Formats: sequence, structure tokens, C-alpha cells
Amino acid sequence: MTQKTSKDPLIERTLVLVKPDGVERQISGEIITRIERTGLKIVGLKMTWMTKDFAKKHYKAHVTKAFYKSLEDFMISGPVFALCVEGISAIELVRKIVGATEPKSAAAGTIRGDYSHHSYAYADKKGIAIKNLIHASGDKNDAEYEVPLWFNDSELFEYKSVHEKHTL
Ligand code: AMP
Repeated sequence: MTQKTSKDPLIERTLVLVKPDGVERQISGEIITRIERTGLKIVGLKMTWMTKDFAKKHYKAHVTKAFYKSLEDFMISGPVFALCVEGISAIELVRKIVGATEPKSAAAGTIRGDYSHHSYAYADKKGIAIKNLIHASGDKNDAEYEVPLWFNDSELFEYKSVHEKHTL
């Protein structure tokens, strides 16, 4: 059955990508577990390999930035896992679990803080994208653009998680 968007505005959907560094390091499962164990629900999941054109659509806000070429090279260097995650304030909650963009500054206990270590200074000196394992929609506008970009309706599923018993 395809998913209908929740009428409750507090129940959000957000896009999460395990980037090529996370897939190649074989920690996708650990990353997804961190998100799942909060009670947030995966309603869509697929493995795919981005093209340059698709990367430009996904990162339309960054295309004109100095680091874009390196970001695109990185994002098309290997497959990614794409997830649509649903739940109460899912956008903000996933960003909290993921941590700050720069791994060096990301708090311990966050995914980036615990599993990655790059800095802006190092990435910029080398002319490479910062390897920070994950993309997560930045806000409601981003999520509303990114979820339908990555998933069509038939790829998103409606089911009840056990946690919903405690949130009714
Ligand atoms: P977003 O996930 O939307 O924040 O996408 C921007 C991505 O570009 C970040 O996650 C990093 O991987 C990368 N990035 C951002 N700023 C820089 C930078 N100054 N140097 C290299 N890579 C960057």
C-alpha cells in the first residue's frame, strides 16, 4: 500500500542518505540502527548510484559553491543508501542524531562525532569533499523537495511500528 502524507504536521518525513564513504566502510547498518532505535520509522529504503545530473538536482543549493565539484565527485564515487524516515519532528531529530556537518566539530554521541574525523581545513587543503557519512534534510523546505526527488509514492510504505502504540 502506498503512503498518504500524515495530516498531523508534527509527523514529518525526512531524507537520509548514507553517503559513499559510509557504504564503503560497511557501517550503513550501524548508521541506520542509530536512527531506527529512536523510534523513528523507515518508510522508504533503496540503494542507488547517483548520476552527475541527479547530484546537481539534489544539491541545487550548493551547485555554485567552490566545493561543489569535489562534493559531486564524492557523491557519484560509489552507491548510497537512501532512506525516507518518518516520525515526530523527524527532520530536527535526525539532524540531532547525525551531528554537525564537520566531523571534527560534531559532538561525541552523534553519528558523525562517533564515526568520522575529517575537518574543513583538511578537506579544503586537499580539494576534496568533507567525508561526513550522511546527508539529512536540513529543514522542512529541504525535506519537502528531497523526499519526492528520491522516492515516488509507490516506494513509500504505510505500516505501524511498535512505537506508535506509545504515541497515540
Ligand atoms: P549537506 O549535507 O546538504 O550539508 O551538503 C553539503 C555537503 O558538502 C556536506 O555534507 C559536506 O559533505 C560537503 N561540504 C560542505 N562544506 C564543505 C567544504 N567547505 N569543503 C568540503 N566539503 C564541504
